[in-house]
Amino acid sequence: MIAVLAIAIVAGATLLLRCEGDPPTLSAPEEVQVGRDGSRVRLQAADEGSGVRHLRVSLRHAGGEVELLDAPQDGNLARGAIIREVEPVEIEIDPKELGLADGTAFLVVEIVDWSWASLLTGNTAGREIPIVVDTTPPRVSVESGLTYVRRGGAGAVVYRVKDADRHGVIVGEDFFPGHPLGDEGRSIAIFAVPRNAPADPPVRVRAEDAVGNRTDSRWAVRQQARTFDDVPIRLSQGFLEGKVASLAGELGIDSSDLVLAFQQINRDERARNEARIREIVSTTSPTPYFEGGFLQMRNSAVTSRFAEHRSYLLDGVQISDAIHYGYDLASTAGAPIEASNTGVVLFADTLGIYGGCVIVDHGLGIATLYAHLASIDVNVDQRVERGQTLGRSGATGLAGGDHLHFAVLVGGTYVDPVEWWDAKWVRERIEARLRPPTTE
Ligand SMILES: [Zn+2]
Repeated sequence: MIAVLAIAIVAGATLLLRCEGDPPTLSAPEEVQVGRDGSRVRLQAADEGSGVRHLRVSLRHAGGEVELLDAPQDGNLARGAIIREVEPVEIEIDPKELGLADGTAFLVVEIVDWSWASLLTGNTAGREIPIVVDTTPPRVSVESGLTYVRRGGAGAVVYRVKDADRHGVIVGEDFFPGHPLGDEGRSIAIFAVPRNAPADPPVRVRAEDAVGNRTDSRWAVRQQARTFDDVPIRLSQGFLEGKVASLAGELGIDSSDLVLAFQQINRDERARNEARIREIVSTTSPTPYFEGGFLQMRNSAVTSRFAEHRSYLLDGVQISDAIHYGYDLASTAGAPIEASNTGVVLFADTLGIYGGCVIVDHGLGIATLYAHLASIDVNVDQRVERGQTLGRSGATGLAGGDHLHFAVLVGGTYVDPVEWWDAKWVRERIEARLRPPTTE
């Protein structure tokens, strides 16, 4: 009797459970944007009560309906346990393969569970996910004519762009963002050929939209090769025991072995400082602040040039090397350091090997850097005029004596300051391209 009752209770409970009325659930995006290269949509079906029995996915578009997935799932009785969540599936939407035209299509998802409800057919859940197809790439037309650019130097290009979310110039692997110059998508990008770029890197105007459609447009660019000097720097024991030991102390680097400490400062600290500088200059103004040529430190002697390769020697043995991405200019100790052009201060603080350092934003991705300063007279976000005093020269950071380390960056890439010091070059290569188009 008890056994019969127990069987009846179990059977009743099983029947109730097997007849559950809760429909399956789906986790999926609300809407999917698809560009020319296609997109993947991740779907996950689940059913709390009795488990998922079937998952079907099809695509309905202007040209008809096509089945993309038909996936029956194992029964629970056979497996002995309810599988509540089906492994997520990725549905590939390739507009070309599926023959999709620009516009909205729908991903139709249907899920059925193992419930015995609805005369054993189970509970059904369905969803239609809008698929917004846009395979039209942005339009680009380059306005500028023949453009010369030196290795380690900069150039500017003007173009018109339509339907782009991101545009600029791509040089090999490096991207230099463009900035609006007026209405109708007219834009300018200042770009550089990095000192260490591969030989003759392809230079293109690139425009991309939000769904990844891309247009690369070439124009006449002449690249001018150049070579850079190899310069040996002989380190003295005094420099290691004085400057390197104290800088290591400031930076929290172990100085029990001074050669090791120098190597760490020159490689690891330098790399950290460069990453920080790239981050700082990534926020320059989309409009220009600069006007005319940039000022070179007055009454100064050049003691080191742009992009020379330095080998650091101790007792004739090379212990480290680096590329010197600026100019070293020496005057009297504590000489006033002037802003080389009008801009806004991006950084005014101590920065590792650069010591007391000021970075000024001149707009359009152009920034100047002043290093080894003994004192700083400006603050972040302060507007500075061309020639305004930023601070005093010194020998802070990794410097052997009082001098200014001056550098120019374009889109986070160091370029030769000589071009920017040349008012004619700035006028003809950069400012001429900032002017409104000539109407004829
Ligand atoms: Zn320097």
